[in-house]
Amino acid sequence: MNRIYLDYAAATPVDPRVVKVMQPYFSETFGNPGSLHSFGQEASAAVFKARQTIANELKCHYQDIVFTGSATEANNLVIKGVVEAWYSVARTDQMFGKKNQAGRPRIIVSEIEHESVYALAQEMASSHGVDVVFLPVDKNGVVRLNALKKAITENTVLISVMYANNETGVVQPIKEIAQIVKEYRQNHPTSSSGEKNWWPFLHTDAVQAFQYLPCAPSELGVDFMTISCAKIYGPKGVGALYMANPERMKPALKTEDIFPMSPVIIGGGQEQGWRSGTENVPAIVGFAKAVELAAALRQKEAKRVAALRAELWSGIKKLFPKAVRNSEGEEVLPNNLNVYIPGVSGEQMLVALDLAGVAVSSGSACSARSINPSHVLLAMGFDTVRAKNSIRFTLGRDTTRQQIKKVITILGELRK
Ligand code: PLP
Repeated sequence: MNRIYLDYAAATPVDPRVVKVMQPYFSETFGNPGSLHSFGQEASAAVFKARQTIANELKCHYQDIVFTGSATEANNLVIKGVVEAWYSVARTDQMFGKKNQAGRPRIIVSEIEHESVYALAQEMASSHGVDVVFLPVDKNGVVRLNALKKAITENTVLISVMYANNETGVVQPIKEIAQIVKEYRQNHPTSSSGEKNWWPFLHTDAVQAFQYLPCAPSELGVDFMTISCAKIYGPKGVGALYMANPERMKPALKTEDIFPMSPVIIGGGQEQGWRSGTENVPAIVGFAKAVELAAALRQKEAKRVAALRAELWSGIKKLFPKAVRNSEGEEVLPNNLNVYIPGVSGEQMLVALDLAGVAVSSGSACSARSINPSHVLLAMGFDTVRAKNSIRFTLGRDTTRQQIKKVITILGELRK
C-alpha cells in the first residue's frame, strides 16, 4: 500500500541533500569539537560553519546561536534560564545587603503554547514560585494584545508567544508584541531601585513558522527565538536557541558577572557555556543544510501547499457540508488544515484513515498520546467535543495533487 503522510507538523522526512552532507560526520570526521588535535578541529570547523550558515539566514551574529538537543530543550533553556538569572540578581542584591528589588518574577505565556512552554510554565508556577500569566487568545486563535499590555509589570522577566501554532497554524502578531514590549521598556527605563531596566525579554517559538515565514529575530524584534531541525526536513535531536548577543544584553545587568539567562545544563562549557554536552556534529551540519533549503524553497512551497490545501478543503466540504475550519484566513500557515466535522469522532477518523494508509493527527502530535481535548482549541472558545474531535492535516514537500485526490476519495469511502 502506498501510504500518504499528512502530518508534517509532527515530523518531516530528512531531505536526501541533508543526509548527504551529514554522512561524513559519522565515521570520517568524527572527532570531538572540543579536542585540540586535527580530528577535533575538523569537527569544530564544521560546527562553526553550520552556526555561521544558520546565523546568515537569521541575519544575526554566529555567537547568537546556541545549539540544543531539541526545541523543547531550547524552550526550557530560555524560560528556566531567564527566571534563574532573575533569581540570581535577587540573591546578589541580598548579598550586598540591598533590599531585594527583584521580587517574585513574572512570566507571560500565551494559552496556546506548545507543551514545552505551556507545561513548563505551569511547573514554574507550582514549583519555582514564578508568577505565571497565561495570555488569552480570541476566537481566531490570536493573542489578545490588550491583555498583554495589562499583564506586563515591573517584575515581568519574560514574555513567550509562539510565532505560529502547531495545531492550528495560526500566526501570531509578533512584531506588534515586540513593539508593545519595546514601548514598555522605553517607558520604564529604570527599575524601582533606580538601575537600568532591560526586562522583560521577548521570546518566540518559531518551530512551526520557520518553514514558511521569514524569521530574522532582529526584524521581528525578539530577544530569543527557538527553532527546530526536525520540522524542516532535517534530523531529530537538534534544535537551537537564538539569543540576542549577551554583550549587547549586558547593560541589563546590575553587576558585570550576571547574564540575562543562566545555563540549565552545566558541564564542559560547550556552546559558550550556555549548553554543555558534546555537540551533535552530524545533526548540526544537517541542520544548517536544512535551514538553507527551507529558506530557498520557502516562497514557492508556501504557494504550492496552499493550493493543495484549498483543494483538500473543498473536497472535504463537498463530502461533509457541515465541516468547519478551526482557523482560516491569511494568518494561518499555508500547509495547515485543522477541521471539525460535527458528528464525526476525530479519533475514529484518525484510525480509519490510518488503516486506509493516510496519516493525520487529532490535536497536536506531541501530545497525541493523551486523550485530553486540545488546550489550544479550548482556548479559542470551542467546546470539549469540538476540541477533542478536530482533525489536523498538515501538508509538506512531498505532498502531491494525486495524493490529495486520493485522500478525498478515501474520505468519501469512509463517509459511507
Ligand atoms: N514548539 C513547537 C511549536 C512544536 O510544534 C514542537 C513540536 O512539535 C516543539 C516546540 C517541540 O519540539 P521537539 O519535540 O522536537 O523538542
